[in-house]
Amino acid sequence: MTIVVPTLVGVFGAAIGSFLNVVIHRVPLGVSIVRPPSACAACAAPVRPYDNIPIVSWLVLRGRCRDCAAPFSIRYPLIELATALAFAAIAVIQLPALLATTTMTDALAVLLVTTALLYFASISIALTAIDLDTHRLPDAIVLPAYPVLAALLAAAAIAAGDLESAARAAAGAGILFAGYFALALISPRGMGMGDVKLAGVIGLVLGWFGWAALAVGALAAFILGGVVGVALIVARRASRNTGIPFGPWMLGGAWVGILLGEPIARGYLALFGLN
Ligand SMILES: [Zn+2]
Repeated sequence: MTIVVPTLVGVFGAAIGSFLNVVIHRVPLGVSIVRPPSACAACAAPVRPYDNIPIVSWLVLRGRCRDCAAPFSIRYPLIELATALAFAAIAVIQLPALLATTTMTDALAVLLVTTALLYFASISIALTAIDLDTHRLPDAIVLPAYPVLAALLAAAAIAAGDLESAARAAAGAGILFAGYFALALISPRGMGMGDVKLAGVIGLVLGWFGWAALAVGALAAFILGGVVGVALIVARRASRNTGIPFGPWMLGGAWVGILLGEPIARGYLALFGLN
Protein backbone atom coordinates (compact mmCIF):
# COMPACT_ATOMS: atom_id res chain seq x y z
CA MET A 1 0.00 0.00 0.00
CA THR A 2 2.65 2.51 1.10
CA ILE A 3 4.78 1.86 -2.01
CA VAL A 4 2.15 0.82 -4.54
CA VAL A 5 -0.11 3.88 -4.18
CA PRO A 6 2.65 6.55 -4.51
CA THR A 7 4.12 4.61 -7.47
CA LEU A 8 0.77 4.53 -9.28
CA VAL A 9 0.17 8.21 -8.49
CA GLY A 10 3.69 8.95 -9.78
CA VAL A 11 3.00 7.15 -13.07
CA PHE A 12 -0.21 9.17 -13.38
CA GLY A 13 1.92 12.28 -12.68
CA ALA A 14 4.27 11.43 -15.57
CA ALA A 15 1.27 11.35 -17.91
CA ILE A 16 0.06 14.70 -16.52
CA GLY A 17 3.62 16.02 -17.05
CA SER A 18 3.39 15.00 -20.71
CA PHE A 19 0.18 17.09 -20.95
CA LEU A 20 1.89 19.99 -19.11
CA ASN A 21 4.57 20.02 -21.85
CA VAL A 22 1.80 20.74 -24.35
CA VAL A 23 0.32 23.41 -22.04
CA ILE A 24 3.73 25.08 -21.54
CA HIS A 25 4.34 25.16 -25.28
CA ARG A 26 0.89 26.14 -26.55
CA VAL A 27 -0.87 28.31 -23.94
CA PRO A 28 1.53 31.28 -24.39
CA LEU A 29 0.89 31.03 -28.16
CA GLY A 30 -2.86 31.10 -27.55
CA VAL A 31 -3.50 27.91 -29.54
CA SER A 32 -5.58 24.83 -28.67
CA ILE A 33 -4.03 22.39 -26.22
CA VAL A 34 -6.16 19.57 -27.67
CA ARG A 35 -5.58 19.85 -31.42
CA PRO A 36 -3.55 19.21 -33.49
CA PRO A 37 -1.80 16.20 -31.92
CA SER A 38 1.93 16.52 -31.11
CA ALA A 39 4.30 16.57 -34.08
CA CYS A 40 8.03 17.06 -34.65
CA ALA A 41 8.81 20.79 -34.92
CA ALA A 42 11.47 20.08 -37.59
CA CYS A 43 9.81 17.60 -40.00
CA ALA A 44 6.13 17.80 -38.88
CA ALA A 45 5.89 14.00 -38.58
CA PRO A 46 3.18 13.20 -36.00
CA VAL A 47 4.47 11.63 -32.77
CA ARG A 48 3.40 7.97 -32.83
CA PRO A 49 1.41 6.78 -29.79
CA TYR A 50 4.18 4.31 -28.85
CA ASP A 51 6.71 7.18 -29.02
CA ASN A 52 4.57 9.26 -26.66
CA ILE A 53 5.29 7.36 -23.43
CA PRO A 54 6.43 9.89 -20.78
CA ILE A 55 10.20 9.84 -19.98
CA VAL A 56 10.65 6.35 -21.51
CA SER A 57 10.20 7.39 -25.16
CA TRP A 58 12.67 10.25 -24.84
CA LEU A 59 15.29 7.84 -23.44
CA VAL A 60 14.57 5.12 -26.04
CA LEU A 61 14.87 7.64 -28.90
CA ARG A 62 17.86 9.31 -27.17
CA GLY A 63 16.06 12.66 -27.42
CA ARG A 64 15.70 12.60 -31.21
CA CYS A 65 12.85 12.48 -33.72
CA ARG A 66 12.34 8.95 -35.09
CA ASP A 67 11.85 10.35 -38.60
CA CYS A 68 14.39 13.15 -39.06
CA ALA A 69 16.62 12.77 -35.98
CA ALA A 70 16.08 16.43 -34.98
CA PRO A 71 16.83 16.82 -31.25
CA PHE A 72 13.95 17.10 -28.77
CA SER A 73 14.67 19.31 -25.76
CA ILE A 74 15.67 17.50 -22.56
CA ARG A 75 13.10 19.73 -20.87
CA TYR A 76 10.29 17.41 -22.02
CA PRO A 77 11.39 14.38 -19.97
CA LEU A 78 12.50 16.64 -17.09
CA ILE A 79 8.99 18.19 -16.82
CA GLU A 80 7.51 14.67 -16.91
CA LEU A 81 9.95 13.46 -14.24
CA ALA A 82 9.36 16.51 -12.02
CA THR A 83 5.58 16.03 -12.22
CA ALA A 84 5.91 12.29 -11.49
CA LEU A 85 8.08 12.97 -8.41
CA ALA A 86 5.79 15.77 -7.17
CA PHE A 87 2.70 13.54 -7.50
CA ALA A 88 4.44 10.60 -5.78
CA ALA A 89 5.61 12.89 -2.95
CA ILE A 90 2.08 14.25 -2.42
CA ALA A 91 0.79 10.65 -2.27
CA VAL A 92 3.47 9.76 0.32
CA ILE A 93 2.47 12.77 2.44
CA GLN A 94 -1.31 12.31 2.17
CA LEU A 95 -1.56 8.51 2.43
CA PRO A 96 -1.05 8.33 6.24
CA ALA A 97 -3.74 11.01 6.70
CA LEU A 98 -6.11 9.00 4.48
CA LEU A 99 -5.41 5.72 6.31
CA ALA A 100 -5.95 7.46 9.68
CA THR A 101 -9.50 8.53 8.80
CA THR A 102 -12.35 6.63 10.44
CA THR A 103 -15.37 7.96 8.54
CA MET A 104 -16.25 8.12 4.86
CA THR A 105 -16.69 11.91 4.98
CA ASP A 106 -13.25 12.42 6.56
CA ALA A 107 -11.69 10.15 3.91
CA LEU A 108 -13.49 12.14 1.21
CA ALA A 109 -12.11 15.37 2.68
CA VAL A 110 -8.53 14.04 2.55
CA LEU A 111 -9.03 12.92 -1.07
CA LEU A 112 -10.38 16.37 -2.03
CA VAL A 113 -7.42 18.16 -0.40
CA THR A 114 -5.05 15.70 -2.13
CA THR A 115 -6.69 16.51 -5.46
CA ALA A 116 -6.25 20.24 -4.75
CA LEU A 117 -2.54 19.64 -4.02
CA LEU A 118 -2.04 17.62 -7.24
CA TYR A 119 -3.76 20.38 -9.24
CA PHE A 120 -1.71 23.12 -7.53
CA ALA A 121 1.51 21.13 -8.19
CA SER A 122 0.56 20.84 -11.88
CA ILE A 123 -0.07 24.56 -12.35
CA SER A 124 3.07 25.34 -10.30
CA ILE A 125 5.19 23.40 -12.80
CA ALA A 126 3.45 24.81 -15.88
CA LEU A 127 3.52 28.43 -14.64
CA THR A 128 7.19 28.18 -13.57
CA ALA A 129 8.24 27.02 -17.04
CA ILE A 130 6.03 29.57 -18.84
CA ASP A 131 7.18 32.49 -16.64
CA LEU A 132 10.85 31.56 -17.23
CA ASP A 133 10.18 31.32 -21.00
CA THR A 134 7.96 34.34 -21.56
CA HIS A 135 7.93 36.44 -18.32
CA ARG A 136 4.16 35.98 -18.27
CA LEU A 137 1.68 34.14 -16.07
CA PRO A 138 -1.23 33.46 -18.48
CA ASP A 139 -4.77 34.22 -17.27
CA ALA A 140 -5.84 31.01 -19.04
CA ILE A 141 -4.06 29.05 -16.29
CA VAL A 142 -4.19 31.41 -13.28
CA LEU A 143 -7.87 32.49 -13.36
CA PRO A 144 -9.48 29.00 -13.54
CA ALA A 145 -7.36 28.05 -10.50
CA TYR A 146 -9.60 30.24 -8.29
CA PRO A 147 -12.88 28.35 -8.87
CA VAL A 148 -11.18 24.93 -9.13
CA LEU A 149 -9.27 25.25 -5.84
CA ALA A 150 -12.12 27.06 -4.07
CA ALA A 151 -14.57 24.30 -5.04
CA LEU A 152 -12.23 21.46 -3.98
CA LEU A 153 -11.35 23.08 -0.64
CA ALA A 154 -14.93 24.18 0.08
CA ALA A 155 -16.13 20.62 -0.56
CA ALA A 156 -13.37 19.30 1.74
CA ALA A 157 -14.38 21.80 4.42
CA ILE A 158 -18.03 20.69 4.23
CA ALA A 159 -17.10 16.99 4.25
CA ALA A 160 -14.83 17.38 7.28
CA GLY A 161 -17.00 19.99 9.01
CA ASP A 162 -13.92 22.24 9.03
CA LEU A 163 -15.29 25.66 8.12
CA GLU A 164 -12.41 27.41 9.92
CA SER A 165 -9.90 26.21 7.29
CA ALA A 166 -12.22 27.40 4.50
CA ALA A 167 -12.57 30.84 6.10
CA ARG A 168 -8.79 31.04 6.54
CA ALA A 169 -8.29 30.10 2.86
CA ALA A 170 -10.61 32.93 1.77
CA ALA A 171 -8.80 35.35 4.09
CA GLY A 172 -5.40 34.15 2.79
CA ALA A 173 -6.46 34.79 -0.81
CA GLY A 174 -7.59 38.31 0.07
CA ILE A 175 -4.48 39.12 2.14
CA LEU A 176 -1.92 37.98 -0.46
CA PHE A 177 -3.87 39.53 -3.37
CA ALA A 178 -4.07 42.87 -1.53
CA GLY A 179 -0.41 42.71 -0.45
CA TYR A 180 0.86 42.05 -3.98
CA PHE A 181 -1.54 44.63 -5.42
CA ALA A 182 0.01 47.22 -3.08
CA LEU A 183 3.52 46.15 -4.19
CA ALA A 184 2.51 46.45 -7.85
CA LEU A 185 1.20 49.99 -7.19
CA ILE A 186 4.42 50.98 -5.43
CA SER A 187 6.76 49.25 -7.91
CA PRO A 188 4.98 48.62 -11.24
CA ARG A 189 8.25 47.53 -12.87
CA GLY A 190 9.09 45.00 -10.17
CA MET A 191 5.68 43.35 -9.81
CA GLY A 192 3.12 42.81 -12.56
CA MET A 193 -0.62 42.13 -12.47
CA GLY A 194 0.15 38.50 -13.37
CA ASP A 195 1.98 38.19 -10.05
CA VAL A 196 -0.95 39.87 -8.23
CA LYS A 197 -3.50 37.42 -9.71
CA LEU A 198 -1.28 34.43 -8.87
CA ALA A 199 -0.82 35.74 -5.30
CA GLY A 200 -4.56 35.29 -4.60
CA VAL A 201 -4.39 31.64 -5.74
CA ILE A 202 -1.34 31.01 -3.54
CA GLY A 203 -3.00 32.75 -0.56
CA LEU A 204 -6.05 30.49 -0.96
CA VAL A 205 -3.93 27.32 -0.74
CA LEU A 206 -1.60 28.57 2.01
CA GLY A 207 -4.52 29.91 4.07
CA TRP A 208 -6.15 26.48 4.02
CA PHE A 209 -3.03 24.93 5.59
CA GLY A 210 -2.82 27.58 8.34
CA TRP A 211 -1.52 30.98 9.32
CA ALA A 212 2.01 29.59 9.71
CA ALA A 213 1.94 28.23 6.15
CA LEU A 214 0.63 31.58 4.88
CA ALA A 215 3.30 33.65 6.65
CA VAL A 216 6.21 31.31 5.86
CA GLY A 217 5.07 30.73 2.25
CA ALA A 218 4.66 34.45 1.53
CA LEU A 219 8.02 35.41 3.05
CA ALA A 220 9.90 32.45 1.51
CA ALA A 221 9.09 33.80 -1.98
CA PHE A 222 11.01 37.01 -1.26
CA ILE A 223 13.87 35.20 0.49
CA LEU A 224 14.28 32.68 -2.38
CA GLY A 225 13.86 35.35 -5.07
CA GLY A 226 16.19 37.77 -3.29
CA VAL A 227 18.97 35.23 -2.71
CA VAL A 228 18.89 34.00 -6.31
CA GLY A 229 18.59 37.55 -7.67
CA VAL A 230 21.67 38.69 -5.74
CA ALA A 231 23.56 35.56 -6.84
CA LEU A 232 22.73 36.25 -10.51
CA ILE A 233 23.88 39.86 -10.19
CA VAL A 234 27.12 38.74 -8.48
CA ALA A 235 27.68 36.16 -11.23
CA ARG A 236 27.00 38.95 -13.77
CA ARG A 237 24.21 36.88 -15.33
CA ALA A 238 21.77 39.68 -14.58
CA SER A 239 21.86 43.38 -13.86
CA ARG A 240 19.73 45.17 -11.30
CA ASN A 241 17.45 46.13 -14.19
CA THR A 242 17.04 42.68 -15.74
CA GLY A 243 13.47 41.54 -15.23
CA ILE A 244 13.85 38.29 -13.33
CA PRO A 245 10.42 36.61 -13.31
CA PHE A 246 9.02 36.41 -9.79
CA GLY A 247 6.32 33.75 -10.36
CA PRO A 248 8.70 30.78 -9.88
CA TRP A 249 9.78 32.14 -6.47
CA MET A 250 6.18 32.79 -5.41
CA LEU A 251 5.34 29.18 -6.26
CA GLY A 252 8.54 27.76 -4.74
CA GLY A 253 7.88 29.79 -1.60
CA ALA A 254 4.30 28.50 -1.49
CA TRP A 255 5.54 24.90 -1.42
CA VAL A 256 7.98 25.76 1.37
CA GLY A 257 4.98 27.13 3.28
CA ILE A 258 2.79 24.06 2.58
CA LEU A 259 5.47 21.51 3.48
CA LEU A 260 7.49 23.30 6.18
CA GLY A 261 5.32 26.21 7.38
CA GLU A 262 4.46 24.73 10.79
CA PRO A 263 7.98 23.56 11.82
CA ILE A 264 9.64 26.77 10.55
CA ALA A 265 7.15 28.99 12.39
CA ARG A 266 7.53 26.94 15.60
CA GLY A 267 11.34 27.09 15.38
CA TYR A 268 11.26 30.83 14.75
CA LEU A 269 8.99 31.49 17.73
CA ALA A 270 11.15 29.20 19.92
CA LEU A 271 14.18 31.38 19.07
CA PHE A 272 12.50 34.18 20.97
CA GLY A 273 11.18 31.91 23.72
CA LEU A 274 7.62 32.51 22.56
CA ASN A 275 6.31 28.97 22.73
ZN1 LIG B 1 11.30 15.10 -37.18
